[in-house]
Amino acid sequence: AEKKSLNFIEQIIEEDLQNGYTKDQLKFRFPPEPNGYLHIGHASSICLNFGLGLKYNAPVNLRFDDTNPIKEEKEFVDSIKADVEWLGFKWAKECYASDYFQQLYDWTVELIKNGDAYVDSQTSEEIASQKGTPSQPGEASPFRERSVAENLTLFEAMKNGETREKEHVVRAKIDMASPNMLMRDPVMYRCLHKAHHRTGKDWNIYPMYDWAHGESDFIEQISHSFCTLEFLPHRELYNWFIDKVCKPGEFPPKQREFARRNLSHTVVSKRKLAHLVEKGIVQSWDDPRMPTISGLRRRGYTPTSIRNFADSIGIGKRENRIDLSHLEFCAREDLNKTAPRVMGVLDPLKVVITNYPEGKEEWLTAENLPAEQAGNPEDAGERQVPFSREIYIEKEDFREEANRKFFRLKLDKEVRLKNAYIIKAEKAIKDEAGNIIEVHCTYDEESKSGSGTEASKRKVKGTLHWVSVPHAVPAEVRLYDRLFSVEDPTEDKEKDFLDFVNPDSLEVITAYVEPSLKEAKVEEAFQFQRIGYFCVDRDSSAENLVFNRTVTLRDNWKG
Ligand code: ATP
Ligand code: MG
Ligand code: MG
Repeated sequence: AEKKSLNFIEQIIEEDLQNGYTKDQLKFRFPPEPNGYLHIGHASSICLNFGLGLKYNAPVNLRFDDTNPIKEEKEFVDSIKADVEWLGFKWAKECYASDYFQQLYDWTVELIKNGDAYVDSQTSEEIASQKGTPSQPGEASPFRERSVAENLTLFEAMKNGETREKEHVVRAKIDMASPNMLMRDPVMYRCLHKAHHRTGKDWNIYPMYDWAHGESDFIEQISHSFCTLEFLPHRELYNWFIDKVCKPGEFPPKQREFARRNLSHTVVSKRKLAHLVEKGIVQSWDDPRMPTISGLRRRGYTPTSIRNFADSIGIGKRENRIDLSHLEFCAREDLNKTAPRVMGVLDPLKVVITNYPEGKEEWLTAENLPAEQAGNPEDAGERQVPFSREIYIEKEDFREEANRKFFRLKLDKEVRLKNAYIIKAEKAIKDEAGNIIEVHCTYDEESKSGSGTEASKRKVKGTLHWVSVPHAVPAEVRLYDRLFSVEDPTEDKEKDFLDFVNPDSLEVITAYVEPSLKEAKVEEAFQFQRIGYFCVDRDSSAENLVFNRTVTLRDNWKG
């Protein structure tokens, strides 16, 4: 078997296994903050952590990093769980940093007693002004040498809500001259008299990220805590905090960093995505134009396509931006294998087959998937599509005259109608302004697809999709384009990223589709032959079908 080379994260784990870690010790986590919906960047982190879990047969926790009650909500917790499940991953335990508030408090009491933490009663501006610069040491707070007894009294008062917000903070007592600015007595706690979505009004103090994150990893006995590169300078602090609570013989987790994934023509930041929702630029977090997992799902992306996307770009050490067309490629590749083929006409032109009997209808057999895609063609099945004297074809599939490369319908030439007959264009009917409103054709009665006749095997250049006019079902079709008109809407720091929103990211049209689609269920995906992949939107109903275009059949982006 071909040996897949290890990425640098796997190399770290392999080395640890060689240097004394046992396989049982391996444990990972995915730690979202429930302050928004997950996006495609998170999908990379999910696939990394849960992928390692599968590879090493190790548990992976889903941990909510819920330490900031101002921005966090139950709605986001629920959506995150739904998204991870939909991607096809199973967590070992559902954990919450808020479940550790008491333990974090107790540890802080220990730190205070050991002279490793103190209550600072300065304003955040004063604290910031004392931080110094990387080349210049900072200045000690006048409260740095407060007595242990006073610190403990104040800390308890903070906890009980007996002090005002912003009156005090708790800081770790580390080193005001450290070359790492994060080590200059970082804040561990602040007072917030705010209800938390899980702990209610139990707490009036909330731990900061650096204090809560590593300790949560320690409590859960995570072996490897993977985070994005901007946390590299936090690693020293992560280790300092762990060192304070980890007793001899206990197992300390380690933080390692990988590069954040960015995607072109969009933004991957919950805060910025929240902006798009709040300003009404998109309708919701799961708007099909959003790079959220729920948006991609509603757009028609499959879990497989997103996992393949994450796996194919892999894990990097340097930040980069992947072109959106690569994500679209992954959608096409998967949908091509699974999406039943159907016929729908987006921009209809009526064709009258003048030698086909009036009032007659036929139901023709159409295969749902080409045999080469269907694995077992029996499974994919067939369906019946109605044919009659009047059909719709795409407007762009007919020209009165065209050069030899136009393998569609033109006057005096033949094409095959998919699953049906060969027709020949005889006459273009125009309105007063000269627009073509109808095409009159004749058909070759002997040429029915699959009928076995000589004429049915006749080769004609060009096959068109079509829908029978009396049977056609009107459907609302939502055509999506890039949400932003530039590759990186955040690049120009002088401008607001909202200035680069593509005003034409959504076009709504009425299409005509074959009647079998009346039975289609929400989220079901189809290939509209020769056009693209579409799925049924959750706004759809039997009376008013709604489809989202997931991707076009080919990459026709002219960027
Ligand atoms: P955002 O700025 O969008 O809120 P975040 O990093 O603050 O992102 P978290 O909820 O804290 O969001 O992220 C959970 C996990 O997902 C973290 O380990 C984080 O590093 C990872 N992650 C977030 N964004 C990306 C990205 N673009 N690429 C890879 N991993 C990411
Ligand atoms: Mg975060
Ligand atoms: Mg964030």
